[in-house]
Amino acid sequence: MTQFSEYRENNGGYNGVADPETGLYIDCRDLFKIYKRADLEVVALRGLDLSVEEGELIAVIGASGSGKSTLLNILAGLDRPSAGQVLVGSRDLLDVSDKDLVMYRRSEVGFVWQATARNLVPYLSVADNIELPMALSGEPAKARRAWSDELLESLGMADKAKRLPYQLSGGEQQRAAIAVGLANKPPLLLADEPTGELDTENADSIFGMIRGLNRSYGVTVVTVTHYAGVSQFVDRVVHIRDGRIGSETFSHPDYRRDGGIVEDEYVVVDPAGRLQLPVELTERFRRGGLAKIQMEDGQITIDAPDTNPRQPRSRS
Ligand code: ADP
Ligand code: MG
Repeated sequence: MTQFSEYRENNGGYNGVADPETGLYIDCRDLFKIYKRADLEVVALRGLDLSVEEGELIAVIGASGSGKSTLLNILAGLDRPSAGQVLVGSRDLLDVSDKDLVMYRRSEVGFVWQATARNLVPYLSVADNIELPMALSGEPAKARRAWSDELLESLGMADKAKRLPYQLSGGEQQRAAIAVGLANKPPLLLADEPTGELDTENADSIFGMIRGLNRSYGVTVVTVTHYAGVSQFVDRVVHIRDGRIGSETFSHPDYRRDGGIVEDEYVVVDPAGRLQLPVELTERFRRGGLAKIQMEDGQITIDAPDTNPRQPRSRS
C-alpha cells in the first residue's frame, strides 16, 4: 500500500505547504468572486475566509447559490478569483500564470463532479479512465497499472477494472471518479456534491471511502455536499452563507452516551472582527439595523432592541 510519504514523494508537482508554521494547505482571506455578465454583476463570494490544514477533510454546506461551487472551482484552478488571497500549497491562485495553472490542475488537484457522466470517458474502461491522467503526465505503463490496481482495490472495485462506465451503478461510477481524481497523486482532492445523485446507503459508502483515502494517503479533501449524514465522516463542516463562511461545526464522539456523536457549532469571526449572526437572528435584521454587544468573562451577548434607538420616543 502506498503510504502518505510515498504518495507525496511520488508527486513531482508537490510544492509543500502554504505555511510551514501553521501547516495550512489552503488559506483563503477576504476572497471575492464577481461574475460579470453583460451589465449585470453577481457577487458569488464576498470576503470569504477559509483555512484548511494539510491532511484535513472538510465538508462545505450551504443553500443553493451560496457560492459553494464558485469556491471549489477557484480552488480547482478552473476559475480565477476577483480579489483577496487564495493560497493552495505554495501557490498563490490569484497571481499565477496560465501555464502554471495547467500544471496545477494536472498534478496538484483532483476533482470529482456531481454528475457521474461528467467524470469518466464513456468509451474507456474503468482502468483506462484512471490511467489516462497518468499517461498524460508521462507515467510509465507498469507504474500506471500498479497504482490504478491499488486505487481500485481500496475502493472495493478490483473486479470492475475492465468495465465501461455504463456497466457500473451510480455509486460505482463515483468511486471510479474518485480513483481518476487521485490518479496523479494530488495533495488535494475536491468534490462538488459527489453523492448528489446517490441514495443514503451509497452516500455513506462514498464518504466512508473518502475518509479512508484521506487517512491512508494524507490527501487533503474539500467536499461540497447536501448530505445530512456527512459530519460523521469529516473533521469539520463549514457553513457557507451568501458568499462567506458563517459558522463551523466540529463533531466528536460523545463518551457519556457511548457511540453517539456531539456536534458543536461555532460562529466565525474574521480577522477584521466581523461575524455573521445565526440564521434565526438574521431574520430580525432583514433590512440591517443596530444591536448592542456586551462582553463579560469571554461571553459575548448580543442584544437586538425591538425599538430603533435612532428614533427616541417623544418626551411627553
Ligand atoms: P452553489 O454551488 O452554492 O449553489 P454557485 O457557486 O454555483 O452556488 O453560485 C453562486 C452565485 O454565483 C449564484 O448567484 C450564481 O447564479 C452565480 N454564478 C455562478 N457561476 C456563474 C457564472 N459563470 N456566471 C454568472 N453567475 C454565476
Ligand atoms: Mg453548486
